[in-house]
Amino acid sequence: MEMVQCDSCHSGQTVFDRTATQSVALQPPYAVVRCRNCGLAFMNPRVTAQEYRNFYAGEEYLNEYGYKKPFSDIQNSRVQSSARSD
Ligand SMILES: [Zn+2]
Repeated sequence: MEMVQCDSCHSGQTVFDRTATQSVALQPPYAVVRCRNCGLAFMNPRVTAQEYRNFYAGEEYLNEYGYKKPFSDIQNSRVQSSARSD
């Protein structure tokens, strides 16, 4: 998890808005904050890009959503399939 500033106006001034109870990558609850400057609501702290990569490559996600192969393997097989048809 990482603490972030507002993506809209880059302000670091936020106020707690509510607790989120659903997210794909981590166990709830999550804090949703609202930017004091522009009003944008966002999760803070939020999941890092690396944490998302680990989550989507993990067995728990693959099994829950019915995928049998990691997404990177699926992409590789599609590239190989299209190369063969050319
Ligand atoms: Zn803002």
